[in-house]
Amino acid sequence: MKRALVSVSDKSGLISFVQGLVDAGYEIISTGGTKKALEEAGLKPIGISEVTGFPEILDGRVKTLHPKVHGGLLSVRTNPDHMKQIQELGIDPIDMVVVNLYPFKQTVQKPGVSHEEIIENIDIGGPSMLRSASKNYQSVTVVCDPADYDNVLEEIKANGDTTPATRERLAAKVFRTTAQYDAMIAEYLTKKTGEEFPEKLTITFDKVQDLRYGENPHQKAAFYKGMQPQYSLANAKQLHGKELSYNNIQDGNAAIEILKEFDGQHAAVGLKHMNPCGIGLGNTIDEAWDKCFEADPVSIFGGIVAFNDEVNETTAEKLSKIFLEIIIAPSFSQDALDILTKKKNIRLMTLDVTQNVHNTFKYTNVNDGLLVQEMDMKQVKKEDLRCVTNRKPTEEEMDQLLFAWKVVKHVKSNAIVLVKDNMTIGVGAGQMNRVGSAEIAIKEAGKKAQGSVMSSDAFFPFKDTVQTAIEAGVTAIIQPGGSIRDQESIDECNAHNIAMVFTGVRHFKH
Ligand code: 5GP
Repeated sequence: MKRALVSVSDKSGLISFVQGLVDAGYEIISTGGTKKALEEAGLKPIGISEVTGFPEILDGRVKTLHPKVHGGLLSVRTNPDHMKQIQELGIDPIDMVVVNLYPFKQTVQKPGVSHEEIIENIDIGGPSMLRSASKNYQSVTVVCDPADYDNVLEEIKANGDTTPATRERLAAKVFRTTAQYDAMIAEYLTKKTGEEFPEKLTITFDKVQDLRYGENPHQKAAFYKGMQPQYSLANAKQLHGKELSYNNIQDGNAAIEILKEFDGQHAAVGLKHMNPCGIGLGNTIDEAWDKCFEADPVSIFGGIVAFNDEVNETTAEKLSKIFLEIIIAPSFSQDALDILTKKKNIRLMTLDVTQNVHNTFKYTNVNDGLLVQEMDMKQVKKEDLRCVTNRKPTEEEMDQLLFAWKVVKHVKSNAIVLVKDNMTIGVGAGQMNRVGSAEIAIKEAGKKAQGSVMSSDAFFPFKDTVQTAIEAGVTAIIQPGGSIRDQESIDECNAHNIAMVFTGVRHFKH
């Protein structure tokens, strides 16, 4: 008679699966809680203590950790020596393990949970059984996911046993599962110790979806998300439209990261290819959108827009007139939804902008490696600025300089941003020299450059960028400072009565 050991925390689908095993002639062994659940459904499992000859002890910390279990799982059926040994010791082979683990992740995510409760939810016996069974997958079927119950039963009904290919697939799944389980524990404890860059890095992600393709159609891709829900694209919900693409996810993420700079203000962020093309602030979300659009009515075509307040009918009407890939907002009014859902392809997403922000690390891969750094969460306030010119910025200029500074942090280096009236009017991104980025920003701003303010993500190595800006009509500048030729730029500003402030902080973005 075949024997299955069943010990599960997640009891979904359990009864019908075990009933199926019983019908197929399996004898069922189970642990405390699982046994109770099976008995309540009228099944008659054998208690684990009957097998081990030992009670479950230490509040369940030791239930199945016993040679009668692990000998039954690990003995190689084709090895006469193994079979002789277990026979002599009164160990019976176990042919199937059905185990899923203490809910460690769900416990960590519980609000207000204690450290003790988290520790108690580290499963020891479960992973041990899963690993023993998986090592011996040649002979043992190991089921760690209720999603596999149906398939396993079908095979048993059809062939009397699972196929070797299925057992191999299930074993591989187990090692992914236990590896991730341990990684979650490691992540939790490592965070607790405050060790930031440990010598072995384990981070865990769950699959959100396979993607149609990667950056280009010939690249395969999938999307995974981290364990802690937070204010991020990974936790946005799609209400409408085509499936998200790889590039959409990157761009959506970039737009949301910019939005986070403007908590407490009404903001609209327009974005294309990882760079903002227009950002507008306003007293209302409608005003913010008007400025976001006016900032660059050309580039926004095919772009992504993110709002930090509800999209209403008025703004939806305007949004519906242009081609956009995605609109992200905390919510959409019913009228707005009625208007926007008429467009089949546009992706509408909602995002909880009040959720915590706690991803303090950014991961970037290089071929065969991973770079890890803290996220760039640095914020500069008015008090942090040092005015280096004879003229100080006016209050209005100061407001706009701080706005321009928040934006330039999110533009690919070398980055230059021109701002006026709570609106980005020119964005110069990703050029190999700074004056080149300034020229692009100025060209885009056109006549609007007159009376604008400028931000630069890093210092000016020469005075040429300042000269170019002043010629275009820029009146105030914000930049980190720190070049050996700072004085040249300062002199240039003083000669034209321009105000310039240093942040002392740079924001390269590669
Ligand atoms: P039950 O609800 O049946 O009492 O317990 C099921 C859970 O116990 C499963 O999640 C299983 O992984 C876990 N488990 C089984 N054996 C052991 C053991 O010896 N020690 C610990 N800590 N957990 C076990």
